[in-house]
Amino acid sequence: MLASGLANDRLGHAYLITGPEQVGKTTLARTFAQALNCEAPEAQRPCGHCRPCKLIAVDRHPDVKLVSPEVSGRGKLTLKIETIRQLQQDLNLSAYEARYKVAILERFDAATIGAANAFLKTLEEPPGKVILLLTATDADMLLPTISSRCRTLNLRPLSPDLIEQSLATRWRVPAEKATLLAHLADGRLGWAVQAAQDDTILQTRAEQLAHLHDALAGRRAHRFALADKLARKPETLPDLLKTWLSWWRDLTLLNQRRGQPVNLILSNVDEVERLEPLAATWTEQQITASLNQTNAALWQLERNANTRLVLENLLLVYPLSQPA
Ligand SMILES: [Zn+2]
Repeated sequence: MLASGLANDRLGHAYLITGPEQVGKTTLARTFAQALNCEAPEAQRPCGHCRPCKLIAVDRHPDVKLVSPEVSGRGKLTLKIETIRQLQQDLNLSAYEARYKVAILERFDAATIGAANAFLKTLEEPPGKVILLLTATDADMLLPTISSRCRTLNLRPLSPDLIEQSLATRWRVPAEKATLLAHLADGRLGWAVQAAQDDTILQTRAEQLAHLHDALAGRRAHRFALADKLARKPETLPDLLKTWLSWWRDLTLLNQRRGQPVNLILSNVDEVERLEPLAATWTEQQITASLNQTNAALWQLERNANTRLVLENLLLVYPLSQPA
């Protein structure tokens, strides 16, 4: 769609790229901005080597603006009206050197109502030679007046096989690590590449799973102590709970396929030996309740509930891993 728009000179003035976190939305937006301003012959755009391509790749091109939401304490994203106003002033100036001025607005679903309404004016009457690229993980969170004025591209998660292949060939990740990351990635190549380059991501996951196993093996008093300890680092909790959630999802899958050959797609492939006996021991109700409560805990934390209480309630629902 983007390539044919370029080739036929039928470009929209605004595009909305949707898809899960780290699936490649901003990467695609940047690549499109490069194609729009590349100096190579048309058939080779984006070349990746000319001056505009190189500057855009590192977000340093004067005519290509990347606008991101701010992150608050608990990882909540907010795109503020001041940021939009600043961008609008900038877009009203003519381009320094580019064919097209481009604004990449990351995670526009994090825009406040005020910011979204302010931006609507730009969408309705965009300055000439300006192309607006919005990204969002949740298109339903956008005002219909915004999304209806954009051409939408939906990026779907990639298969683990494709991610594994990319990691092995393009980023030269060793086979075993590539397999694990491809399964943990949940279809998001950007996450897999980042985790391949930054060892702290897998280390953090190992710590998060260690906390989970610790909780499952402990009784009430032990779990309350753990909840108290974890609650002291509220900023780490959304990520921790997402790891736990993925573990419970795998357990649900294994439990439902009890007795049948396991040829299904698990995320935590390195945990199979631990998961299988538990899937056979715990009831479907116990596992489903744990999965649901983990989901609920994430939801409650996003809405500023009392962190320690949320964790205590969660850990009370989890079954015991070693019956007395
Ligand atoms: Zn180029």
